[in-house]
Amino acid sequence: MSDAVDSYYEATRHGAGESDAFEPGRFDVAVIGGGLTGLNAAIELAGRGVRACLLEGHAIGWGASGRSGGQVIAGLGVDMDWLARRLGDDVARALFAIALQGMDDLRRRIASHGIECDLVDGHLVAAHNRRAARSLRREAESMNRRYDYPVRYLDGGALAEQVGSTVYHGGLYDDRSGHLHPLNYTLGVAQIARAAGVKIFAGCRVERVIGDGPHRVRCEAGEIACDHVLLCANAYLDRLEPKLARHFIPVGSHIVATRPLDESTANSLLPGNAAVADTRRVLDYYRLSADRRLLFGGRVGLLDPTPAQLRSVMASRIARVFPALEGIQLDHAWGGHVAVTRSHAPHLGRLRGNILFAHGYSGHGMVLSGIAGKVLAEAVAGDDDRLRLLARIPNPAIRMPRRLLKPALAVMLAWFRLLDRT
Ligand SMILES: Cc1cc2nc3c(=O)[nH]c(=O)nc-3n(C[C@H](O)[C@H](O)[C@H](O)COP(=O)(O)OP(=O)(O)OC[C@H]3O[C@@H](n4cnc5c(N)ncnc54)[C@H](O)[C@@H]3O)c2cc1C
Repeated sequence: MSDAVDSYYEATRHGAGESDAFEPGRFDVAVIGGGLTGLNAAIELAGRGVRACLLEGHAIGWGASGRSGGQVIAGLGVDMDWLARRLGDDVARALFAIALQGMDDLRRRIASHGIECDLVDGHLVAAHNRRAARSLRREAESMNRRYDYPVRYLDGGALAEQVGSTVYHGGLYDDRSGHLHPLNYTLGVAQIARAAGVKIFAGCRVERVIGDGPHRVRCEAGEIACDHVLLCANAYLDRLEPKLARHFIPVGSHIVATRPLDESTANSLLPGNAAVADTRRVLDYYRLSADRRLLFGGRVGLLDPTPAQLRSVMASRIARVFPALEGIQLDHAWGGHVAVTRSHAPHLGRLRGNILFAHGYSGHGMVLSGIAGKVLAEAVAGDDDRLRLLARIPNPAIRMPRRLLKPALAVMLAWFRLLDRT
């Protein structure tokens, strides 16, 4: 089920996502992966006059970028106090500034190219217990004071103005974050890449990257010769570079879309129309779509649920938060893989020769993938300062035989669920 795409986004996509017929040949750079990392890298390369092609094994946006919860969230997805303790305050601030630039770039691109992707402002992290609420209050203070970032702690009436549920104890509200239609955003970015001169070869799964530079990139239809390779395959990297893929765990995440709600019901659930993610380890995340469906996602305890199991689990999770939606019709259900690193912050670096990589944004990839792509392109052009800075984030390999990963994940999810109840 994890890779099935009966998604609301597919049903409401703008256009087919055009691509070019594959031609073997020579490029300066081959980008592997047609999600937001690869597409953004390719646009930046084209803007610098670099000849780039992008190879995507399926269709553009087939991976996480076209399936995501669509929450566009500021920051690195990591506990910033932990990062500051590991790398020092100045490095933590510099890394946070890179992440914020990712948000600015996303907003600028949508506005300047008129990408129709239903962008809405406002994001709430909702505390599932009192301890989490206290921690969010501290986080709000720290973000304001140490990072000059204006998030607000909400409780009581202010919280009720954002979410019509009684299960939360407080929240962290960020009006610079928000939500969008991830597939239409990705397709819009792909159009910009093509218009900038990037050759997009969809349906071309790369089988091997050969050589230490210059490189050859082999797919079934033929070979591309190039000076640089950018690995932007994210959670699907393990077939191409299994050792590198040990730096994250591909965790299944699932989403359902309800039938469209009438306006007053939709307003009663999410009066501020913000996207919401809660603080549990096995979290719920949700938002309203442009046609007022509730899109509700999370990790499902069963690793590969059938569509019926997924609907049933999600129906009860929706009813726990919004009892008024008990028994609501679910029109779409889909899943995908999130690449989760140990730190929850991204993993970027240089593999060998001129092969660079970026992946592992955990739940923050809608924004971070864009800036990561840009940073990879900068490094190709000879300025790898920001790549080296991001590569300092501690993201050690997760040393576990691949065959034990799924059972270990199942045990971990069950344990996390127990902790979430405390
Ligand atoms: C269900 C779900 C919900 C999520 N919700 C959110 C959210 O609300 N907010 C948020 O910020 N993030 C969210 N994420 C994470 C976010 O979507 C990702 O971090 C981000 O889209 C990663 O972009 P990417 O381009 O690196 O990877 P992807 O979009 O996964 O693209 C990688 C592409 O590489 C291609 N590929 C892989 N191997 C090869 C090969 N050998 N040859 C050619 N092509 C190959 C794949 O087909 C794929 O299309 C979610 C993810 C999922 C799955």
